[in-house]
Amino acid sequence: MSNDPKRKIPNQIQREVRQRCGFGCIMCGLPIYDYEHMKEWAKVKEHVAEDITLLCPQHHREKTAGRLPIELIQKHNKNPFNLRNGKSSYTPLYYQGDSCEFIIGGNTFKMDSQEFPNQMIPIMIDEIPLFSFILDKGHLLLSALVFDQFNNLILVISENRLMYSTDPWDIQFVGKTLTIREKFRKILLNITFDSPNKVIIDKARLLYNGIELLIKGDRLLVGDENQRLSRNIFRNLQCGIMIGREPQIPIGTGIYLGNINRYTRNSIELKRLAAEILE
Ligand SMILES: [Zn+2]
Repeated sequence: MSNDPKRKIPNQIQREVRQRCGFGCIMCGLPIYDYEHMKEWAKVKEHVAEDITLLCPQHHREKTAGRLPIELIQKHNKNPFNLRNGKSSYTPLYYQGDSCEFIIGGNTFKMDSQEFPNQMIPIMIDEIPLFSFILDKGHLLLSALVFDQFNNLILVISENRLMYSTDPWDIQFVGKTLTIREKFRKILLNITFDSPNKVIIDKARLLYNGIELLIKGDRLLVGDENQRLSRNIFRNLQCGIMIGREPQIPIGTGIYLGNINRYTRNSIELKRLAAEILE
């Protein structure tokens, strides 16, 4: 590795490259990737977004070994895998263990029950679990559905396999944290996959069917009811916070909020609170 500080690609250029490449390897769509200069760095010694592309570790290695020709990279760079599909490929998450935990807006949702299989849903809106863990004798499976304000799916985690839509303005996976932005400095979701058994959401605007949950730090605000939830601990409950329509078969629930007004962004009061929470 070179210690040349100029070698670091500036954040703005990284974002331009991510957006142009559909937030994944241009060859296979994997959300795990490196920024790769199509022209050799030693020759150009400058960062130009158009000359940089995204390659997953495997395709990066194929390029370095000379098996993946530059002509093919350039072809896919013009028509990246994820932009053709409108979504990324799936990448695995590595969850396991006999207990699990969500920390969402400073509220803790914990499961260490010895009855198997067991499911924990920290937040459910109109019968849809936004997040869930299934614990089954050492197997721990994370699932999630994250929507935008038009009920379009932005992020899907299906039993430890993660993929996202290419619609958002920016999506970035750094270390264990995935950040989805609606626009500059507007975070839709900041989620940390603290494997082997923990998920942390410390900033988010969770949306579904006109219900809006705002999360920042240790605060969780639900709808325009001014429900501020903080420092609650939910343990071995099937559902932590249930909002809106109830499931036909009742499940053990911590907090039930049945009558939350929809399309809360129209509320001046909520706009004020949203501005305060999300800046
Ligand atoms: Zn690839």
